[in-house]
Amino acid sequence: MTAPTASRRAHLPLRPLWLCRVCAAPWPCAAARLDLVAEYADDRIALSVYLCAVLHEAAADLYRLNPQDGPDPAALFARFLAWAPRRRPADE
Ligand SMILES: [Zn+2]
Repeated sequence: MTAPTASRRAHLPLRPLWLCRVCAAPWPCAAARLDLVAEYADDRIALSVYLCAVLHEAAADLYRLNPQDGPDPAALFARFLAWAPRRRPADE
């Protein structure tokens, strides 16, 4: 039996902590990033829009959990958005 698609997408965020449900790394972990790049391979703009949305949700959750010493906005940007490829390989 081959691995179901769901197992490839198992690296999903545990909210409101935004840690990976599989490897417990800050989400998106390396595996989740690979999954996202593969899933949005034909639409990098949609990937950026999606990541902006989850950045917004994660910032709200994380500040709600820790209002006194919330996450650094620049660190959140780097974690959720800055890693994403902006162009298709063919454009580079
Ligand atoms: Zn993971």
